[in-house]
Amino acid sequence: MSISGRADEPHLRGSLALSRGRIDRAAERRDDDTWLAAAWRAPQTLVLVVDDGSVAVGADGASVRWMPPADVDESADRLLLGADVDGRAWFAVAGAHPPDARAAGLRELGPLLPDDEAGLVVHAIALVNWHAAHPCCARCGTRTTIAAAGHVRQCPDDGSMHFPRTDPAIIVLITDEQDRCLLGRHPAWPADRFSTLAGFVEPGESLEQALAREVREEVGIEIATTRYAGSQPWPFPSSLMLGFFATATTTDIQVDGAEISEARWWSRDDVVEQVGSGKLAFPGSASIARRLIEAWFGGPLPGAPG
Ligand SMILES: [Zn+2]
Repeated sequence: MSISGRADEPHLRGSLALSRGRIDRAAERRDDDTWLAAAWRAPQTLVLVVDDGSVAVGADGASVRWMPPADVDESADRLLLGADVDGRAWFAVAGAHPPDARAAGLRELGPLLPDDEAGLVVHAIALVNWHAAHPCCARCGTRTTIAAAGHVRQCPDDGSMHFPRTDPAIIVLITDEQDRCLLGRHPAWPADRFSTLAGFVEPGESLEQALAREVREEVGIEIATTRYAGSQPWPFPSSLMLGFFATATTTDIQVDGAEISEARWWSRDDVVEQVGSGKLAFPGSASIARRLIEAWFGGPLPGAPG
């Protein structure tokens, strides 16, 4: 696997929507109860309430509505997202949005938010998702308690520590020797929706092995060379998408019918024509899938972002 390609090979251009944050996560503060208590009381501190993967949208529709700690349920577990050099801290809590709030998730908000706010929201939603799905000890079943400002759960019975889970998944844009790209459709998707192939990395498997296996299983294609493109968290609920470009050595498609019900090779002309006639639509602009397809296409895709 090579990570540097030739100039004429496709590359992701610009930042991925959910990979933009640069806020210091302040990991060294997570066990400092004195600092955490003071940060929670500080007037500049901001709290993000996460409710089932959604956050409250700001008045401009392209920001999130932060809360002062005083307006947040005192009993909620405080998850530290980070702090900056000016002494501002950001926290997340799980809870309900104010009745007047409009709520949205990352598929909608991700591409609209400023860089650092996007990073904070991805961190918050991923962390809240993990706590919601992992309330008990995986060893003994006892309810665990939150530690390290939300970045650990600890079992009060056997002392075991449990860390936030991230599930690696490969996602790949495959081209053939005519520079056509392979896009497939999941059986549950709308009839016009096509995307790159993707799948979870299995235990004991390298990324290269996962790529070859997923592509073979889903469409019966063999790939020769793979090149790393980039990655972004995809907290629906806990994935990390690892993007690649790959070159196929075979072109005869055999879909598995389970993960992929339909797949074909597309030229750029095919894409323009099929989008124009309403037979082809792509994933939304928050997704790395869309960005991989754009990298191959050579610019923004025709049609409205899904
Ligand atoms: Zn336990």
